[in-house]
Amino acid sequence: GTAQIGVTGLAVMGRNLARNFARHGYTVAVHNRSYARTQSLVEEHGDEGTFVPSESMADFVASLERPRKVVIMVKAGGPTDAVIDELVPLLEEGDIVVDAGNAHFPDTIRREAALRERGLHFVGTGVSGGEEGALNGPSIMPGGTAEAYASLGPILEEISAKVDGVPCCTHVGSDGAGHFVKMVHNGIEYADMQLIAEAYDLLRQGLGASAAEIGEIFAQWNTGDLESFLIEITADVLKHTDADTGKAFVDIILDQAEQKGTGRWTVQNGLDLGVPITGIAEATFARALSGSVPQREAARAVLPAHAAQWEVKDRDAFIEDVRQALYASKVVAYSQGFDQIAAAAAEYGWDIDRGAMARIWRGGCIIRARFLNRITEAYERAADLPLLLADEYFTDAVASGLPAWRRVVAGAAQNGVPTPAFSSSLAYYDGVRAERLPAALVQAQRDFFGAHTYKRVDREGTFHTEWSGDRTEAEA
Ligand code: NDP
Repeated sequence: GTAQIGVTGLAVMGRNLARNFARHGYTVAVHNRSYARTQSLVEEHGDEGTFVPSESMADFVASLERPRKVVIMVKAGGPTDAVIDELVPLLEEGDIVVDAGNAHFPDTIRREAALRERGLHFVGTGVSGGEEGALNGPSIMPGGTAEAYASLGPILEEISAKVDGVPCCTHVGSDGAGHFVKMVHNGIEYADMQLIAEAYDLLRQGLGASAAEIGEIFAQWNTGDLESFLIEITADVLKHTDADTGKAFVDIILDQAEQKGTGRWTVQNGLDLGVPITGIAEATFARALSGSVPQREAARAVLPAHAAQWEVKDRDAFIEDVRQALYASKVVAYSQGFDQIAAAAAEYGWDIDRGAMARIWRGGCIIRARFLNRITEAYERAADLPLLLADEYFTDAVASGLPAWRRVVAGAAQNGVPTPAFSSSLAYYDGVRAERLPAALVQAQRDFFGAHTYKRVDREGTFHTEWSGDRTEAEA
C-alpha cells in the first residue's frame, strides 16, 4: 500500500477530515460502508489532493502503508464496534486504529484493552469543531499510548487548528483520556451556552431591550475578557432577523433545547466521581426543564411570580454587572470542569496536563476563547493547583466582580428571572470558600437516624452518639 493514512466513515465529519489530510499533502485511503459516499468524495474533491478509494474494507486496508494508520469516523456506539470488528482481522501487529467519533470513554477503555491484546494500538480521539473544524483545523484530543502518539501525533498536530502557531492537539493520556476530556469539553460547552443564555435573558427582562440591541452588547463584550466563539455567534444570532416574519430570529424559535447526550455523560460522571460540577449540571437540567412541556403548561397556568416588572435604573451599570456576573460564573464552570479532569485522572490512572488541555481548546473547538490562555498560565504557575479559582489571576478576576455578581443573582431572584447557572455558580463560590459548612449538621442527622458516625473537630477518631438512649458518645 501507498496511502499514509486512511479514513473509514465518510459522512460530513470523516469526509472533511479526509480532505484536511489530503490538503496537507498526505495520500489518503478512503472507505465508507456504502460506496456512494466514497465515490462522491473523490468526484467532488479529488482535485484537493491524493485519495485512494476502496469499495471493500480489505482493499482499503491493503492500500495503506505499514504500520497502518486508520481513522474511524462513524456513528458512536454499535456502529463503531461493527467497524472495529470488520477492520481488526485485516490488520497486523503495530497498526494504529484511531476512533475519532464521539465515543463514551468507558467504551474507549474497553476497546483499547481488546486491541492491545491483539498487538494493535487503539487511539480514542476527541475531535471538536464540527464539520467546519474537521476541514480547516479542529481541536484534537487523542488518548492511547505514548508510542502510538509518537508516530500518529505529528500528523494530527499538522491538521489541527493553530493558535499563535501552536497546534490545538496534544497527547492527552492513556486509553480513554482523550474521549474523557472531549466529554468534559462538551459539558463546559453546555455551561458556557447556558450562562450566555441567562445573560441574554437578564438583559432582555431587565432592560426591556430588543434582541438586536442585546446582540450589540454581546458584540461589544466580544472585544474584552469574554472574547470567544460562543459570544461571537450569540451576537450574530441576536442581530439576525427572520426572513418570513421580520421578527427577531430568536423570537421565532421554539424554546425547547435538545441534546445529544454528552452533557448528560459529563454530569453522570461528575456524580460517579463526587465532583460538584454544578454549572454543567444546571445547564443540562435547564435544557431538560425547557423540554418539560406538560409541566411548563401546567405551571404557567397557576404559578404566580409575585414579582414586579423589573425596573433597572442605570442601564450601563446593569449591563456591566451582567458582564461581570457572566465572567465570574464562567470561571466557576471551568474551574469545576478542570476539577473533574483532575479527579478522573486520579481515578482512571491518567497523567493529564490540565494547562495543555486549555491550550488545545484555544482554537478549532466550540469553547475556543481568549480566556483559556489564563487557564494555561494558571497551571504553568502551579501544575497541581487544587482549584482554578485559587489561582491569583482568577481570584482577583472573580473578587472584583463579586458585588456585581451578587446584585445580578439577587435581582434575578427578586424579579422572577430564572438564572440556575448564575445562581448555582455563586452558591458554589460561597460554598467552597466557606469557613464552616452546615455539612456538620448533615453528619449529625446521619448519625442520629442511621448510626453513620461522625468525626470531631477537636479529637482524632470516629464517633457515634446513642441518640435514642442516654446520648453518651462512644468511639466507633
Ligand atoms: P454520523 O454520526 O451521522 O454517522 C454516519 C456515518 O456512520 C456514515 O459514514 C455511515 O455509513 C456510518 N455508519 C453508521 N452505521 C454504520 C455501521 N453499522 N457500519 C459501518 N458504518 C456505519 O456522521 P458524522 O460525520 O456526523 O459524525 C461522525 C462521528 O463524528 C460521530 O461519532 C459523531 O458523534 C462525531 N462527531 C461529530 C461532530 C459533528 O459536528 N457532526 C463533531 C465531532 C464529532 P453509511 O454512509 O454507509 O450510512
